[in-house]
Amino acid sequence: MSHADHADYCWRELPEYGARIEHPRLRQPISLIIDDPMPGYNPAYFHSGFRFGPARIPVSLVDEFADMIERTGIRGKFSIVPYPIGLGRVDRAIEGVSDVERRYFLDEIRDRIAPHMDITPEALTHWNALDLKTGQLLPYWEHVWSRSQTTETLIPYITLGLEILNNVDIPCRGVTSPWDFGDGVEDAYATAILEAQRAVYGRTFAWYFLQMDGSSPSVPPRLSVFDPAKGEAVVSVVTCDSNDFGAAVWGGGRPNPDALISADGQSGRLVETLRNGGSSAFHSHWQTMFSQGTYSGMNALELVAQRLETYFGPRIAWTGCDDLARYTATAAAVQLSAGSDSTGLRLSTPFACPRFTLSQAESHPVRDVHVDGKPLTRAASRAMFDQDSYLVENGRIYACWTLEGEQTLSVETA
Ligand SMILES: [Zn+2]
Repeated sequence: MSHADHADYCWRELPEYGARIEHPRLRQPISLIIDDPMPGYNPAYFHSGFRFGPARIPVSLVDEFADMIERTGIRGKFSIVPYPIGLGRVDRAIEGVSDVERRYFLDEIRDRIAPHMDITPEALTHWNALDLKTGQLLPYWEHVWSRSQTTETLIPYITLGLEILNNVDIPCRGVTSPWDFGDGVEDAYATAILEAQRAVYGRTFAWYFLQMDGSSPSVPPRLSVFDPAKGEAVVSVVTCDSNDFGAAVWGGGRPNPDALISADGQSGRLVETLRNGGSSAFHSHWQTMFSQGTYSGMNALELVAQRLETYFGPRIAWTGCDDLARYTATAAAVQLSAGSDSTGLRLSTPFACPRFTLSQAESHPVRDVHVDGKPLTRAASRAMFDQDSYLVENGRIYACWTLEGEQTLSVETA
């Protein structure tokens, strides 16, 4: 674990001001991505060509999952497939799923999961592509269809997914790619995501999940669209695992939590990337949580969360994907200049960012730290260090607050 104490990966060094952008409240962000949830049906059954059943997932899984994330504190992203398997829209009716069940699924996600995980659509069907003009399914998968698309044809497709979830009062700041939807046309796809967010919400910031990287030492999010002057960014949240640790359960096998973190906390892909000091995002699936009705995948995920708590505890923080994406774009965009008084630093950002954390060398004992004249509370220890506080430790001053627009950070010395 020695590497994390001397992290070789930082968000950004600003040497001309003796400053460094740190991880939010000095904790490495960790995010869980759950793909494929849909009311009523088991995606594994369809995606395996009907080999691995059962066809249905009982709606009680959503309660069990909400209980589990409340117990563990897990944060990240949770999909809703807006037009599952082409059988109907989640805001209207789905063939073979009762309205009571469909509404219960959406209500539970809105009330119990959305407070912890960012919700995203996953294109439309996670099945054959939908012809938006005729409302009929096309004779190829959505990801195959995506390869021959342009920004112009992708915009309405992504927009409809956002609109369907918005119609059931589930706003989404990002999107998930079914299979590898958008791969090969990623620039057009990222631009279309931005334009869809603009069309539905008037926003100029978005993120998405498409890429996985199971081998690099660190796997930070990537900036796919980045135009701070226009206040525009689209961030690709990349997972550090290239396979779902529990995928074997779809066909009746056993999950492999050790692939993420072993029982002794010494090996696994999350251990590797966290030891290298960066953020870590990893992914699993709704059908893994279900595990053909045994919940073995969900139990294994809870074990992963417990092991992370045991071996990394206060060094990490479960983080929503939107916050992770926003932090990445802000760290890249923020501009520093000397403030009007000699102790101040002027910061300017096009993106608002909660828990923005900046450190500077401490030259004299610190008496007070202010943001635009408003005092931050001194934190007695790292454990107390959070939003609107500052910490003095080992010759550095750390400040954590919501960075937005133009602000001045001033440090008064004794
Ligand atoms: Zn998927």
